[in-house]
Amino acid sequence: MLEPVINDKCGVFGIVGHKRAAELTYFGLYSLQHRGHESAGIVTSDKGRIHLHKGMGEVSHVFSNSENISRLSGRIAIGHTRYSTTGASSLINIQPFIITNKSRPLAIAHNGNLTNSLDLRNRLESKGAIFQTTSDTEIILHLVASSKKSKRIDQIADALNHARGAFSLVFMTEDSILAARDPHGFRPLAIGKMGRTWVVASETCAFDIIGAKYVRDVAPGEIIEITPAGIKSAFLKQKVKTASCIFEYIYFARPDSKVFGENVDKIRRRLGRMLAREHPVEADIVIGIPDSANTATLGYAEESGLKFEIGLIRNHYVGRTFIDPNQEIRDLDVKVKFNPVKGVLENRRVVVIDDSIVRGTTAQKLVKMIRNAGAKEVHFRISSPPIISPCFFGIDMPTKQELIASNMSVAQIEKKLGVDSLRYLSHDAMLSMSSLPDTSFCSSCFSGKYPLRIPKINGKSRLDKI
Ligand code: AMP
Repeated sequence: MLEPVINDKCGVFGIVGHKRAAELTYFGLYSLQHRGHESAGIVTSDKGRIHLHKGMGEVSHVFSNSENISRLSGRIAIGHTRYSTTGASSLINIQPFIITNKSRPLAIAHNGNLTNSLDLRNRLESKGAIFQTTSDTEIILHLVASSKKSKRIDQIADALNHARGAFSLVFMTEDSILAARDPHGFRPLAIGKMGRTWVVASETCAFDIIGAKYVRDVAPGEIIEITPAGIKSAFLKQKVKTASCIFEYIYFARPDSKVFGENVDKIRRRLGRMLAREHPVEADIVIGIPDSANTATLGYAEESGLKFEIGLIRNHYVGRTFIDPNQEIRDLDVKVKFNPVKGVLENRRVVVIDDSIVRGTTAQKLVKMIRNAGAKEVHFRISSPPIISPCFFGIDMPTKQELIASNMSVAQIEKKLGVDSLRYLSHDAMLSMSSLPDTSFCSSCFSGKYPLRIPKINGKSRLDKI
């Protein structure tokens, strides 16, 4: 039996009421590239005629031929950038997916993971459903198709009432887009406007590039339907406590985005400041691991009074470290990605800020690099707590066995990395970083406490398995 994809971290985008819908979606996806660069796709509706182009690779690669965009006519579009980790990166899994149901088209783009996908899939298959992909997103389409309701918004609500876990979704019909967020609100989804054009996107940086203004978030558990005439809103049945993903703030989202209604940049600076307060160190300079730790590093420098320096240069022409699931390549990747600036590091006591340590691969290699460049002391400071548990809600996290902090104490990691000292931000400090109540976040990767039950697979706990 095929096991559905477990980890998808993705970016979604949708637009209604613009003659250049496909082009604007292309630019929106460009801004969301950091959320997934394994594949990309855009689908448009031209008065019900559907046009699609999708492919493997980054947005600029998939749409390198301008004809691939110009033939996507229509005033309505949705788009997707995708990144999965469980090997199911084949062509069939590239989104958006399109179906025709009761003679009407429906396209879908998904960011997140359903936790009950196996159960739903088994139930649907036992009723005769045939799946073309290994993605949990296709399950949602089957659920929509089996709804007895007549309006799309009601069919989608019906379907999503069965789904558990993380979903920030954008759908396209012949004349509208619909956007929905799971009741926990795990992943972000924002609504924007540009004149009479409505847009939705995983992050607001996708609005900035096309000149749209942030209006509000799709609320947890909300479904909206957008037509050129305006927005209609409905809510899913399940009422649960909000559990927005804190890792969006720590690492995943771009600092120039507003996520869950807050500026990521401000939060990351605050994380850096708190880290400096909790774990000061006598040193000459502070450097960050580019790019994800840049903003927290500024916060650390401001609070500690240490001089901020650029001690590592990142080569931007390579993907993120995790892009290759194979350890050998991943090791090489770190060197391809970073190079030390000798003149900055030589004979200095250096504080190095990173946003997180996952497997420890990046940190271990960088410490060696920084020492080889002549640093006298290397002190690692992490702007989040130790990651001890996998994520089931749409962030790529490896197995418990692979998570270094799940298997070693901070003192042991310190030794393994070969640093003079290693300190992490405390869980309490992290939760106090935004103006949102600290109970409104999911921080299960740091605490091991999940906001919902994670169903077993074949009788085995997924916590042990993955
Ligand atoms: P590792 O080398 O496995 O310890 O990964 C840690 C590095 O990867 C840090 O520098 C983070 O900025 C980055 N990182 C953290 N979480 C993720 C993730 N889910 N996907 C890709 N990179 C990540």
